[in-house]
Amino acid sequence: MSEAPRNTIIIGSGPAGYTAGIYTSRAQLEPLLFAGEKNGGQLMNTTLVENWPGSKDGILGPELMMDMRAQAEKFGTEIIDKNVTRVDFSGDVKKVYIGETEYQAKSIIVATGAKARMTGVPGEEKLLGRGVATCAVCDAAFYKEKNTFVVGAGDAAIEDAMALTKFATKVTMLVRSDTMRASKIMQERAQNHDKIEIRFNTQLKEVKGDKKLESIVITNSQTNQDEEVQADGVFVAIGHLPVTDIFKDQLELDAKGYLMSHLTQAQQESNEVTWLHGFPTQTSVEGVFAAGDVVDFRYRQAVTSAGMGCMAALDAERYLTGSASGSW
Ligand code: NDP
Repeated sequence: MSEAPRNTIIIGSGPAGYTAGIYTSRAQLEPLLFAGEKNGGQLMNTTLVENWPGSKDGILGPELMMDMRAQAEKFGTEIIDKNVTRVDFSGDVKKVYIGETEYQAKSIIVATGAKARMTGVPGEEKLLGRGVATCAVCDAAFYKEKNTFVVGAGDAAIEDAMALTKFATKVTMLVRSDTMRASKIMQERAQNHDKIEIRFNTQLKEVKGDKKLESIVITNSQTNQDEEVQADGVFVAIGHLPVTDIFKDQLELDAKGYLMSHLTQAQQESNEVTWLHGFPTQTSVEGVFAAGDVVDFRYRQAVTSAGMGCMAALDAERYLTGSASGSW
């Protein structure tokens, strides 16, 4: 049995989801937020977050997320720690399911985030957060004067390598083929950096260590020769996977599975189009908004996700009230 439609349902509990909760509850939209069974998002897997504005001494990722959750609850966000299993966004009233239980809302904010792709080699999962990492912008400072490796050859891998050079003694990029996918300008930056070594045709085979990372095994794919080398840090930068499985037949996705942001026909035809161009939270379905890593493959920061959560909340409020100003 379903209740009357809510104003807003938020799906996801990273910085985007909780921020959307804070804003929509303060706007008295009485949001319901599905946080997932493993709530809190990617920051639950990090240690010290030093780039969250306002925390000059840094804050632990899990602590930051629990604070955001408490703040959303304080203003009245109802939170259910369950995974959404199915959605139906075909009508004006959107439907969200947990198993057979149906929840209805007039607007939806999708903030399901993304997860880092992992190589799956032995030891990787065990040592994640203990020498194996996925975000150099977040964790590079912990590798001062250390010997580090970056797996991957895209723009993100080079950005990670460049971030690491500020702290590490050496950064070795492990490139599985004989070419890099990154843009030429980024490749040149890496090639010209005296702390970066690029090893082509080199695949990560295993990461080893008891309580923390101690060494890695790499294989030369041309000679099939294995080599074990001492390592303090391995950054896996082989792309991200947006969490969009349940939206596949409901919302438009790009080739990599990220949600596409859209302007509705009415918005495109209105005079507000220039203003709205700066607010990329509208998905392909009117009344469904997206925020954070599920739509943004470029910035992927806690602060940018939180910012988008705020934007999606304000856009949902505009949509619900049909007003150009909302109450913020
Ligand atoms: P990409 O998909 O561009 O690159 C992934 C890289 O990982 C490829 O080099 C790929 O190798 C490699 N790879 C995949 N699986 C494995 C594996 N199992 N072992 C070793 N290597 C592997 O992902 P990115 O995250 O780098 O970038 C995603 C998007 O974001 C891109 O469009 C990128 O341009 C953009 N971006 C832009 C930035 C900027 O403009 N400053 C910064 C960061 C990202 P192979 O080539 O052999 O398949």
